[in-house]
Amino acid sequence: MLFAHDTEMALLAAVRLANSADEPDTLDTVEALDAFYEEFSYTGRHRRTREELDEVRALRPTLRTLLTSERDEAVRRVSRGTARCSASSALTRHDGWDWHLHAVDDDQPLATRIAVETAMAMIDVIRADEMSRLSVCADDECDGVVLDLSRNRSRRFCSTTCGNRNAVAAYRERQRS
Ligand SMILES: [Zn+2]
Ligand SMILES: [Zn+2]
Repeated sequence: MLFAHDTEMALLAAVRLANSADEPDTLDTVEALDAFYEEFSYTGRHRRTREELDEVRALRPTLRTLLTSERDEAVRRVSRGTARCSASSALTRHDGWDWHLHAVDDDQPLATRIAVETAMAMIDVIRADEMSRLSVCADDECDGVVLDLSRNRSRRFCSTTCGNRNAVAAYRERQRS
């Protein structure tokens, strides 16, 4: 594992959220947010309301900018993000997850918790000087954020769809020459 598991989960979740804003928008219902909440094993307050959905949706451009920032710019952005960290930040262990950090109270709005957790995860990335793990999809038509947690740093596309499309294009290119 490259980073601590809660850091990796937070990064994966942030990338998923940022990319959900690309057309067609895939975070457009309360049910879609529910599925996201379950998939990334969130705990704590989850209101299942349109308002909560709108707050999380509104966070997406901020996440995208942070994830794709240059390192020094990311430092400035995370300090803003962690302003809402609770004084009671603590290691906790629950639901089969090993010790991990809860940097913000469970009763804070979901969007706030996601913002803080992403900032905390980015602090790890910045300290480890691993910003190159984050990039924009190598597909010409796609702006998806790519998180590469692979050992050999081989990930260039945001999704298998983009990867396959480019593999097919490269194959056709070779056939022609
Ligand atoms: Zn937890
Ligand atoms: Zn892509």
